[in-house]
Amino acid sequence: MTAHYDPYDFANRRHIGPTQAEIDAMLAAVGAPSLEALIDETLPPDIRQAQPLAEEDAFGPALTERRAIERMREIADRNRVLVSLIGQGYHGTTMPPAIQRNIFENPAWYTAYSPYQPEISQGRLEALINFQTLVCDLTGLDVANASLLDEATAAAEAMGLARRVAASKADAFFVDRDCLPQTIAVLKTRAAPMGWRVVVGCPFADLDPAEVFGAIFQYPGVGGAIHDFSGPIAALHAAGAIAAVAADPLALTLLTSPGEMGADVAIGSMQRYGVPMGFGGPHAAYMATRDAHKRALPGRLVGVSVDAHGRRAYRLALQTREQHIRREKATSNICTAQVLLAVIASMYAVFHGPAGLKAIAQRVHRDAVRLGRGLADLGFAVEPEHFFDTITVRVGAFQGVILAQAVANGVNLRKVGDDRIGITVDERTRPDILQAVWRAFGADDPAYDEAWPDARLPEALVRTSAYLTHPIFHMNRAESEMTRYMRRLADRDLALDRAMIPLGSCTMKLNATAEMLPISWPEFYEIHPFVPADQAAGYHALIGDLSDKLCAITGYDAISMQPNSGAQGEYAGLLAIRRYHLSRGEAHRTICLIPSSAHGTNPASAQMCGMSVVVVGADADGNIDVEDFRAKAERHSGHLAACMITYPSTHGVFEARVRELCDVVHAHGGQVYLDGANLNALVGLARPGDIGADVSHLNLHKTFCIPHGGGGPGMGPIGVKAHLIPFLPSDPRSGTEGAVSAAPYGSASILPISWSYCLMMGGRGLAQATRVAILNANYIAARLGHAYPILYAGANGRVAHECIVDVRPFQKSAGVTVEDVAKRLIDCGFHPPTMSWPVAGTLMIEPTESETKAEIDRFCDAMLAIREEIRAIEDGRIDRANNPLKNAPHTVQDLIGAWERPYSREAACFPWGARGIDKYWPPVNRVDNAYGDRNLMCSCPAPDSYEEAAE
Ligand SMILES: *Cc1c(COP(=O)(O)O)cnc(C)c1O
Repeated sequence: MTAHYDPYDFANRRHIGPTQAEIDAMLAAVGAPSLEALIDETLPPDIRQAQPLAEEDAFGPALTERRAIERMREIADRNRVLVSLIGQGYHGTTMPPAIQRNIFENPAWYTAYSPYQPEISQGRLEALINFQTLVCDLTGLDVANASLLDEATAAAEAMGLARRVAASKADAFFVDRDCLPQTIAVLKTRAAPMGWRVVVGCPFADLDPAEVFGAIFQYPGVGGAIHDFSGPIAALHAAGAIAAVAADPLALTLLTSPGEMGADVAIGSMQRYGVPMGFGGPHAAYMATRDAHKRALPGRLVGVSVDAHGRRAYRLALQTREQHIRREKATSNICTAQVLLAVIASMYAVFHGPAGLKAIAQRVHRDAVRLGRGLADLGFAVEPEHFFDTITVRVGAFQGVILAQAVANGVNLRKVGDDRIGITVDERTRPDILQAVWRAFGADDPAYDEAWPDARLPEALVRTSAYLTHPIFHMNRAESEMTRYMRRLADRDLALDRAMIPLGSCTMKLNATAEMLPISWPEFYEIHPFVPADQAAGYHALIGDLSDKLCAITGYDAISMQPNSGAQGEYAGLLAIRRYHLSRGEAHRTICLIPSSAHGTNPASAQMCGMSVVVVGADADGNIDVEDFRAKAERHSGHLAACMITYPSTHGVFEARVRELCDVVHAHGGQVYLDGANLNALVGLARPGDIGADVSHLNLHKTFCIPHGGGGPGMGPIGVKAHLIPFLPSDPRSGTEGAVSAAPYGSASILPISWSYCLMMGGRGLAQATRVAILNANYIAARLGHAYPILYAGANGRVAHECIVDVRPFQKSAGVTVEDVAKRLIDCGFHPPTMSWPVAGTLMIEPTESETKAEIDRFCDAMLAIREEIRAIEDGRIDRANNPLKNAPHTVQDLIGAWERPYSREAACFPWGARGIDKYWPPVNRVDNAYGDRNLMCSCPAPDSYEEAAE
């Protein structure tokens, strides 16, 4: 019957959950005559955008799935995949196919949220504790966190940790000149606003321990040299300073660990543990330290605790260090990290085991030795004397010719100064690759000698200590077992492939399969971030077009893709503001106004930019208290640097007076940072750049469909108005201040996801998604409003794309806490909503446009059934201390053995919403948080404790 095939409808059917009939039914339920009428009641008229996106140049019509994949293919084909022996922190590696298919390409892993609700996160928490154990063992240190963003930012975090714990009062940080240039750049950027000096030099000639509060050394160095740093480390300790070592985790399988040299901190990248280079990311960085400094660690830390039945359970430990609790006093602003990549790296180690990893490292080393020998035979001077995988060759005036010949032979080498070439071999290096390199250096018919050459590792630094002794790294690695291990862990977790994840502010929307396909293509994932531009033409085109689209969506003039998380975007945006003020001779502008309801990353990022946070209160309706805001802007007028506001607000409302707030800040000479994490409520309807903001970050892992990965990766590009363009992040390769991430375009290899989302939605589809996201939230508010107070609403009683449900009254009436309600939702088969943020004791619910009416109804029915359970407690029909809410979540173990509870096992395990045979069973009962922090254990528990815990 239908003559045309409308791709726009098709896009709707993929990303937008409700059908037209469902939309109509929901509109009736919320009492709005049409979607447009609902939007008119919700968005203040003075912020609505004049031009619909569809008419912007950047947006054509929505593409069909097939057409979009073809476009992706065309773009991918413009990248040229050569063998990159560039090194400098990025290496060829092979992701084992079993890991690729079962983790990297498996929505059970990649669509999970950060493991804040431990009962539904035991699988990824186990994988992360394996990661932490791996890192501790390799580095010889006591505690490791569950990943950082990249090696360069990890180095900056190490500098921050050093400042927190060092006894020394000196103001400088020493950086080994053999550190990666991008690491040096990010360290300089991070140090500047804090007033720390960065001294770059040779650790054995230029380090004056009395002058510094800490130092970082690279092991092996960027040019390949391997040094014993125990001397400088001892000298630093004598002066009360902290020593950090940036170490290659593959080299550490053969070399003495940083811990054995006395280092306090080790950082580095786990990229070469099976994670493709991806034009710069995403990859997991690691950080480990001594037990004494564990409370100063940045980022997430997985620990071991027990559940309500005393069985062992994993959870996030020492959260009071983190931004969501400690705000501007947090150990860092990090929120989204690199969980999926840490999981992959840890599985790579499980897959290969210690002997396998060592064999890989030895093979890499042998090839590096063969390579150097072949070049020496050709008459070149090869350095250094001792190395692992990297050599540097003196080539004088032949540098250009040799580099070009190498490219002609399909190999990228590293240009070092004007007269040397660096070469780094890796797991994927094969004889023909070495032969190609030798030919580039002038050999005619080079032969690859199979014989094992003598090792060139420094005798004194050959590793003797054991690593990866835990049984998990010694399991039978038959692929049947590996596959089942990955499956078992995935089954413990509740991700988007099972149920909606209604997490307010986190925008857990569909990550469409068609968008995910290209990230498995070698043309995207096998590109080194520092290849010549012509080899990455596809990437440059994609980044250019996505930037244009994001500018059209936001009303900004330029985008920087460098920040690789939302918090990094905040940091980069505030730095731009800082540098703007500096350029105008206004260094004294350091005050940042931040509402009390702001996300914890906001104050934490402001602190990292050397700003002082002044908190602004909220009024009874949840809006920023405009009078308080005005008064504080006035009081700090001469020193006002910026304000940070989230729009729509973290309370889930479109504040009507947002333009006024922007005007106030501008009138006092400040800049407006608009936290764009809630852009899912704006796209196509309103633009931050039009509202009056100067800079925003966009969470591509929220609004633009990059999956959350269980806590990363993410991308937090920033958009700025023209006057801030000169202050955007600079190229990290320069080694100079201004870069915020290790790679020029952050985690570039996940950008195809956001780009294809835009292609398949078109401007019209994007705006429709926003409208439906708002409808879905208002529908939930309407359905739940009779049972629970909905905390805030706009002038017409409408919420934005999320709503806050208040459960505080039930504390008094039934002794029920927000945690009880959240955990009971797990029994119903749901991931709990955002808990106790931005208002303690409440649940913040964000359905997104992707959820169908049926799934939203299932959720609402579950919430209403829980309300009835609360009523039973209120009415005295069931015990206040022993009831389904207090004992939630229930596990399959609860179906056996004695049962002395005043409610049935059926009521316990199959409440409203739980699906008969498809019931999700949490693997543990409620996890005891306090126990975990009191008995801190952050690496794999010994096997006997498994039995103990099981008893
Ligand atoms: C998610 C979020 C952030 C931080 O983003 P990350 O990528 O996790 O660093 C900042 N602000 C708000 C309001 C958010 O919801």
